[in-house]
Amino acid sequence: MADPTSFSGLVQAERLLRELRSGHDRFLSGSSAHPHASYERLEQLVAGQHPTAAILSCADSRVPVELLFDAGFGDLYVVRNAGNACTNATIGSLEYGIDGLGISLLVVMGHEGCGAVTAAYAPHTALTPQLHDLVHTIRAGLDEVDPPVQGDLRVAFRQNPVQAARHLVQGSALLRERLAAGQLLLEAAYYTLRRGEIEWLGQLDADGALQPSCLVD
Ligand SMILES: [Zn+2]
Repeated sequence: MADPTSFSGLVQAERLLRELRSGHDRFLSGSSAHPHASYERLEQLVAGQHPTAAILSCADSRVPVELLFDAGFGDLYVVRNAGNACTNATIGSLEYGIDGLGISLLVVMGHEGCGAVTAAYAPHTALTPQLHDLVHTIRAGLDEVDPPVQGDLRVAFRQNPVQAARHLVQGSALLRERLAAGQLLLEAAYYTLRRGEIEWLGQLDADGALQPSCLVD
């Protein structure tokens, strides 16, 4: 059960999530402010970073995280790999952001047309050992989905960030503790290439269960 004294942390994280959504709304409407893009900002950051949110996303060049959220230098702690997969390096990197940098908001964002998810359902004849491992991790997560994805890529693209977020919870005692204490908000999201919109899929609790997003009004 969440500690009542930590509710303010969750309120803060929900406010930060709404700010992220506002930045994305500016991007969608063509009115991005491009904040914190100056050399002056860079100089201010030499002393240290204080990003407001951590984002796990795909390495895909069509998913430039700071542009999508209309953010700049020092604003977001971004971890990217092919398929926004949950690997040990992913967990360790995010644990640093949460514990070392004090981040209370984590967004796991998948996207339409993800090549790594597509590869998870394709024959693996030409993959290097490392890429095979990465693709296997994604496929193993999708095989746990109920009802089964059964190779339906439209479903797989949307489910992948939820499964990655769930595996982060399962793989990190730190994340489970912070979620249970109401000190961390973990939201899954889906980016559509054609419309350029981010769909908020819900938030994961300390048991890895998907709950409605606080952004659903
Ligand atoms: Zn991708």
